[in-house]
Formats: sequence, C-alpha cells, structure tokens
Amino acid sequence: SVPLTFFSSIGKGSKDGILIKGGNYLERLKNIDTVVFDKTGTLTKGSFKVTKVEVIKGSEKRLMEYAKAGEFYSNHPIGKAILNYGDVEISEWDIQGHNEKAGYGVNALYSGKEILVGSRKFLESHNINVELPEAFGTVVYVAVDSEFIGRIFVEDEIKENSRKTIDELKSQGIDVYMLTGDNKKTGKHIGDILGIDEDKVCTNLLPQDKVSKLEEIKSKSKKGTIFVGDGINDAPVLAMADIGISMGKLGSDIAIESSDIVLMNDDPYKIIEALHLGQRNNQVVL
Ligand code: ADP
Ligand code: MG
Repeated sequence: SVPLTFFSSIGKGSKDGILIKGGNYLERLKNIDTVVFDKTGTLTKGSFKVTKVEVIKGSEKRLMEYAKAGEFYSNHPIGKAILNYGDVEISEWDIQGHNEKAGYGVNALYSGKEILVGSRKFLESHNINVELPEAFGTVVYVAVDSEFIGRIFVEDEIKENSRKTIDELKSQGIDVYMLTGDNKKTGKHIGDILGIDEDKVCTNLLPQDKVSKLEEIKSKSKKGTIFVGDGINDAPVLAMADIGISMGKLGSDIAIESSDIVLMNDDPYKIIEALHLGQRNNQVVL
C-alpha cells in the first residue's frame, strides 16, 4: 500500500510548481548525495545576446546573412539570439535544406551554398580549420562552402538563484557538478562564479558525452544522483539519472517525458524545495 504521506507531499509539491511523477521518486529524493546541473537554460537564463561580430572574410552583412540562414529554423537559444540581432533579413525561400546537430550547431543549404553555424568542434568535424586562438566566452563559428568566414560572440546571464542553490546543496554535503557542451574557458568562468569545484565542471560535452559522464559520476556516488536540465539537448541524460528533473517553460515535450520531476518555472532553487519534500515525506505521519 502507498502511504498517505506520498499524496500529501506530491500534492504540496504540485501547489509549489514541483510535479513529481509518483511516490517512487519522492522516496528517492531522501537519498541523494549528488546533483548534476546542465549549464545553459538551467544555471544560466538561456537567453543569449550577441555581443560582438568578428568578420574574417567578406562583410558583416554577409556573415550575418549566412548565420541567420543557418539558424532560421533553430529553437536553440543561441540560434534565437543570432536571428534577433541586427537588421539583415533573409528569405525563407532561399533555404533549400536544413539540419540541426544537437550540441554542435546547424547546417543549411542556402542559395546553393553549404552553411555551417556552430561550435569550433562542429566546424572541425567538417574538416574546416579555424586558425584563431580559442576566444573567451561562448562563440559561434560560421563557414560557407567549407571556408571559415567569421565568428559571433554571444553571452548568457547566470540566474539569480543559481549560486544560492549550489551553496545550499554543498552545505548539505551534496556534490555539485555542471555539464556543458560549451567550451572550457566559459565553463570554468561560470563554475568559478557559482562555486563549483574545478574538477566538477565538465565541458565540451556532446549530448551522448553527457550520458557517459553521468554514468561515471553515478558510479562514484554512494547514494542517488539527480540530473537537472532544461530539456534542450539533454533528454537522454535526464532519462539516465536516478532522478531527472526538467525545468522551465523552455522544456520540450520530450524532456517532460524523459524526466521524473518537472519544475513549472525556471528557478533552480526549486531543487532545494524538492529535496525538502522528500525529507518532509519522511517525517509527516498521518
Ligand atoms: P549546454 O550543454 O550548455 O546546455 P548545448 O548542448 O545546447 O549547451 O550546446 C552546446 C554548444 O553547441 C553551444 O555552446 C554551441 O557552441 C553549440 N550549438 C548548439 N546548438 C547551436 C546552434 N543552434 N547554433 C550555434 N551553436 C550551437
Ligand atoms: Mg542545455
């Protein structure tokens, strides 16, 4: 039989915007020693802004035109930032093909030209050499017909409650990790601001690398491991955690399906409240 406290805690959770998909997960919340966060959209707002455009070949107008053509159908927060920047407009009719590669970027066929927009790793995986030192920040590289033509710097903001949430988890003796597909410099910078140990900041991860990283972290932890993500490019890893928590309006249907707990807003502090629900469930006797 299911103790009544399950319903009471699940009910309280749902009032607070924490949807728990069953008593099992409430039980598991009691026994957690590791919390793994995704970066973009989870600890950061996931609302990027373009801060600088660096042209290597041609004009800025041409660079932005190709970048926007590549991102035209993207729902990724980086893609949206690029589409919202400046006044270059493109015609959808000129896009003949389009494909997004999770954790990498997008490619498109635009006016007969092969466009790539994404991480340095993405261009390199297409044998395009970016002969520039790694820049500080999140940087999007653009190539046309196998030629690197420039890069676009984008910036995200850390959420208000991220540091407070991490401090509190650490004070409860919980190990805190951050996983990201972003580069090492940016990951380390954000990890420093948030007080995450350097060896627990894992960067340059593709969606499948996040899964193997989480497996490694799980094997080290003695109790349970929570993964918290926003659902963009992290559905596989959400499904793999002892408890997968997705958050925010950004969350896709697939993320809601892959997760065990859904947070109805994008405040990371809800994790602390969810842990309290698990503990409360232990104490309350009806
Ligand atoms: P995170 O792991 O921080 O949540 P993602 O896995 O969504 O980030 O993306 C990882 C990296 O892949 C980004 O930092 C960016 O370099 C690149 N990327 C992914 N999607 C896009 C896109 N649509 N346009 C440009 N770059 C992208
Ligand atoms: Mg993400």
